[in-house]
Amino acid sequence: MDGLRHTRYGWWLEEAGRVEATRPLERDTSADVVIVGAGYLGLWTAWQLKALEPGCDVVVLESGLAGHGPSGRNGGFVSTLWDDLPILRERVGDTRAVAVARASERGVRGIGEWCDTEGVDAWYRAAPTLVVATSEAQLGASVDAIAACEAVGGPEEVQGLTAAELRARCNVGFLGGALLRTSATVQPARLALALRAKVIEAGVRLHERTPVRRLRRDGWVATTQGRVRAGSAVLAVNSATAGFPGFRLAHAVASSHIVLTEPVPDVLDELGWTGGEPIADGRSLLHYLRTTRDGRIAFGWGGGRMGFGGRRLGRLEVDRDAVRIAGDDLLRFFPQLRGRRITHAWGGPIDVSPTHLPIFGSRGAVHHGFGFTGNGVGPAYLGGEILARLALDRRDELTRLALVDPEPKLMPPEPLRWAGGSLIRSALVRAGRAEDAGRRADPATRFLAGLPRRLRLHLPR
Ligand SMILES: Cc1cc2nc3c(=O)[nH]c(=O)nc-3n(C[C@H](O)[C@H](O)[C@H](O)COP(=O)(O)OP(=O)(O)OC[C@H]3O[C@@H](n4cnc5c(N)ncnc54)[C@H](O)[C@@H]3O)c2cc1C
Repeated sequence: MDGLRHTRYGWWLEEAGRVEATRPLERDTSADVVIVGAGYLGLWTAWQLKALEPGCDVVVLESGLAGHGPSGRNGGFVSTLWDDLPILRERVGDTRAVAVARASERGVRGIGEWCDTEGVDAWYRAAPTLVVATSEAQLGASVDAIAACEAVGGPEEVQGLTAAELRARCNVGFLGGALLRTSATVQPARLALALRAKVIEAGVRLHERTPVRRLRRDGWVATTQGRVRAGSAVLAVNSATAGFPGFRLAHAVASSHIVLTEPVPDVLDELGWTGGEPIADGRSLLHYLRTTRDGRIAFGWGGGRMGFGGRRLGRLEVDRDAVRIAGDDLLRFFPQLRGRRITHAWGGPIDVSPTHLPIFGSRGAVHHGFGFTGNGVGPAYLGGEILARLALDRRDELTRLALVDPEPKLMPPEPLRWAGGSLIRSALVRAGRAEDAGRRADPATRFLAGLPRRLRLHLPR
């Protein structure tokens, strides 16, 4: 991979342009609501607070630059939670499960409408997601979701696709799969930076380079230089959540990496992959791929290393081993890319929920959201709607969704979580390779790879 640039923030942020940091918090202040973290979740919460109550005084504290975490460097798939319907039905029954899945469509539609009304060009493009099998073993990946949608009267939401139907959308020999009807793609950094600009314009006080050190249940927040006293606080720090007291067992941290090709519009034409469909394969540590407006392929792999607690480890951001594997896998998917350049690679942490579902809720005056499990672009929009309501103490059908204050399920403590998770991750990588080669993995690998299912823990996908 000659000339490949490993970048901390990724190509999307380079393409979107630089921003001047806002002033850090330098003295004590007060506010109606203080938000910790300025990724999509914190920023959508700020936006919704201003939409619900324009006079609300909102302070946002961000340790780095707003939108420069996973929100500015993800794959840009904007998805619903329909493919989580089997998990939702098992946990909360059909009626509440369908309410969550339907509500999650608000993210896909809401982001598109917001871009239109606010005049934001975030490359929003509505297109169904294709979940594809690249080996026999992956053919069953969407069977449960298809059956669950049929069972609740929503068969159009996740539909089975034959190999021939897939060929018509991307002619690369996928064996079969499914279509998730409601989805879109965005240029993630353009969305994040536009949101940053719009909340500032709406009067939100954003302090960047302001890491929060302490957060009390009464909404009091301390940073290195100043404190904020607020009526309520919102914790929206993604994979750093487990670093805050009371959340240590709330989630695990994994990582995901993306490689990006130079513009290859001729290859996309040859494949007939011109409809903008995002694609994910059916393995546990999934590949996810999409095209860009300028004809590149962004190819991600969710098989990066595990994090430890809520710590920010460098290898979660740039892991050359994970990048190498993603690059090799890209060429396996598309042999026609041989000789074409991979120009950029980057990665970031993933907040893995024990149920695969995002979690929202309140503890005293602190309201939280985390656990997007690699699927937060669409759901963080809904999360912002929920957290703004919780912070203003306005209860309605969104705050009654089963994603809010769910029955608790915890992750094992560290170092067990990291050690066990790393063992399982390696087994899943080996099992995936064996399946690609048309073999069964050895019994020890199969045992380890099957552990999460037996422990009823759901993996990032
Ligand atoms: C490589 C990659 C690809 C992905 N692809 C997709 C995809 O295609 N589709 C999808 O739906 N999801 C995807 N995701 C996941 C998605 O990016 C996240 O779910 C989403 O961005 C979460 O938004 P957030 O606001 O919760 O988190 P973040 O964007 O991480 O924002 C949290 C913010 O909190 C700040 N923060 C942390 N600690 C503190 C502190 N103590 N004080 C102050 N601020 C703090 C951080 O600096 C950060 O800016 C991907 C993630 C990665 C890493």
